Amino acid sequence: MKLEFQSAPRPADLDLSQWMDWTWQLRASLKTKADFASYFELSSEETHAFEKGSEIFNVRATPYYASLASQKAAQDPIRRILMPHEKELFDPSQSQLDPLGERKASNHPTSRIVHRYSDRVLFLITDICSVYCRYCTRKHFTGSDQAFVKKNEYEDALAYIKKTTGIREVILSGGDPLTVSDGQLERVLHDLRSIDHVEIIRIGSRMPVVAPMRMTDDLVRIIKKHKPVFLMTHFNHPRELTQEAVEALDRVVDNGIPVMNQMVLLNGVNNHAAIVQALSRRLLFLRVKPYYMFQCDPSIGTDYLRTTIEDSLEIQKELWGHLSGLAMPNLSVDIPNGGGKVYYSPQFETEVSAQGRKFTGWDGVQAEYINPDPTSIIKPLDYELYLDEWNHLRASKNQLNRE
Ligand code: SF4
Repeated sequence: MKLEFQSAPRPADLDLSQWMDWTWQLRASLKTKADFASYFELSSEETHAFEKGSEIFNVRATPYYASLASQKAAQDPIRRILMPHEKELFDPSQSQLDPLGERKASNHPTSRIVHRYSDRVLFLITDICSVYCRYCTRKHFTGSDQAFVKKNEYEDALAYIKKTTGIREVILSGGDPLTVSDGQLERVLHDLRSIDHVEIIRIGSRMPVVAPMRMTDDLVRIIKKHKPVFLMTHFNHPRELTQEAVEALDRVVDNGIPVMNQMVLLNGVNNHAAIVQALSRRLLFLRVKPYYMFQCDPSIGTDYLRTTIEDSLEIQKELWGHLSGLAMPNLSVDIPNGGGKVYYSPQFETEVSAQGRKFTGWDGVQAEYINPDPTSIIKPLDYELYLDEWNHLRASKNQLNRE
């Protein structure tokens, strides 16, 4: 069956050039109850959520993204991502404002830097997004009216990255870093590229999903100029892969910019193996590597959108063996309170002994992997050549504390 992609349903009275202008999409975003009620038939639960105003996480969606959701069915998967629900106000099982521990002093050396892992930092260049996903894990920062990073915060962030020479990778995040202007983004990329030890830059963005017209030729040129830059997209459902998204991804990939996707498993949105495979196969066809399948974090107000870890494991097990390794995203759970990531894979091991391990494979094949003689194991002759670099990287997070 040939994979096909549909255009988003543009309103009949709207000019194509306006629809395809990302700045118009941001300006015309739906933000208030009246905006949403003019397009959607609101359910009583959604209406109640809007009426709670400040108690609810910010609400916003571009007209393009709203057009992908059902106007009538409140249970529509895309609508569940963008529309507030009164269940956000009740959090019976677990509820954390900062599930990734990003605000802990030890992980937060400057106001816009999160340094959780040795070799990489998050640089939060804006708190603004073009959609406020109901499951957002960074509600302590996202949509907090701080906008583009201020001059002093920017200088503090750059100084930290420059001084911490073990940092190899900077992840531009937020908020959504592609909501800033081309000029602002170019300056950030230029300044990061002028730091010798920064090897990789990642841009994590929902814009290819909620406003794919953002991926203009100018933007792609800017990103390409500062290579290597990886674009981390955030498609959660196959219906988000419209013809507009396909053309945006083509522009990016054709210019040699690697693209990887991070999805979040969400209750009533994509928690079925058929949906995950549909999304993953289409992404791979578009040359986007499905990278993560995240367990939804217990961020405040997200209980109704979370799956159980057992459900997530079951989905992963169903996919295993049927989906190409290239299309298979890594199931990953962030341990609450900032405990770091844990990867899961289906358990096929049935017995462990000194001489090896026994397995039953995904389609029932039983076999044993027998270890070689342990006394035959040697270290590579030249490993010491790389030891300094390895030790420096491992120590980077504590580098400033020791100085
Ligand atoms: S785009 Fe990302 S940062 Fe913004 S609300 Fe959605 S998940 Fe949160």
